[in-house]
Amino acid sequence: MQKAKLALKTQARPQTIVQIGDHVTVGGSDLLIIGGPCSVESQAQMEAVASRLVMAPVQALRGGVYKPRTSPYDFQGLGLEGLKILAAVRQRSGLPVITEVMAISQIEEIAAYADVLQVGSRNMQNFDLLKALGEINKPVLLKRGLAATVEEFVMAAEYILSHGNANVILCERGIRSFDTYTRNVLDLGAVVALKQLTHLPVIVDPSHAAGKRELVADLAKAAIACGADGVIVECHPEPEQSVSDARQALSLEEMVNLAESLTAIAAAVGRTIPSGAGSLPRLSLV
Ligand code: PEP
Ligand code: MN
Repeated sequence: MQKAKLALKTQARPQTIVQIGDHVTVGGSDLLIIGGPCSVESQAQMEAVASRLVMAPVQALRGGVYKPRTSPYDFQGLGLEGLKILAAVRQRSGLPVITEVMAISQIEEIAAYADVLQVGSRNMQNFDLLKALGEINKPVLLKRGLAATVEEFVMAAEYILSHGNANVILCERGIRSFDTYTRNVLDLGAVVALKQLTHLPVIVDPSHAAGKRELVADLAKAAIACGADGVIVECHPEPEQSVSDARQALSLEEMVNLAESLTAIAAAVGRTIPSGAGSLPRLSLV
């Protein structure tokens, strides 16, 4: 870890709080709960998600519009049409939106519509992409590579920081191992280590770690208990019909129950979960 200059915790830089949109932060005492489908599929789907989650202790929406699929024959995402859907539900619900960027050529377009740009696991060491994301000022959610060490993960964040963007959020999403029962192995040891080593917010994605919906809620609770600054969870109005990652998708009711159940865990570790944007009177709900 010797070469990291900007990501490491110091006395002068004990903790970074990243601002997301006008009302949401991550890295302070408030936790960040993000919910939404793997892929944006339609306006109706995203409106159903937003209108339910806005009433829950959920602070942001997720939804992929450029999808890194293992097979080139699988659904690749709605692209610009999906970004417009995200912007519309953001406008109507007041919830900031997060979506994945896969290429430098997509940055400008995505930054015009989304509040947070996600770098997926497969791109954690796409150094040119990381450098280009260092040139913008929107927050970047950097997911840990499928088989990246903690040091490689920190150095990937260092690429973004060293190119000028201080708004980096780390995300542990499970790493490859020998056991195929779970999709990946959720490395909570890395979460604890990253919280000790770096000043950056660290959140956990139990959905891609587990790959099975019945494991997601308990892993999310464990993540908050061990000091994570939030979770990002996949959910869908009709989980079995999800065009991608159906097996790990929670129903909207399960997502709301999970978010509500995290409140007690948060309190036990001295954190708070803000109520949803639906509690803000200025917002017109979807
Ligand atoms: C996703 O969040 O939809 C995704 C593809 O995640 P990961 O990059 O962690 O596999
Ligand atoms: Mn997914």
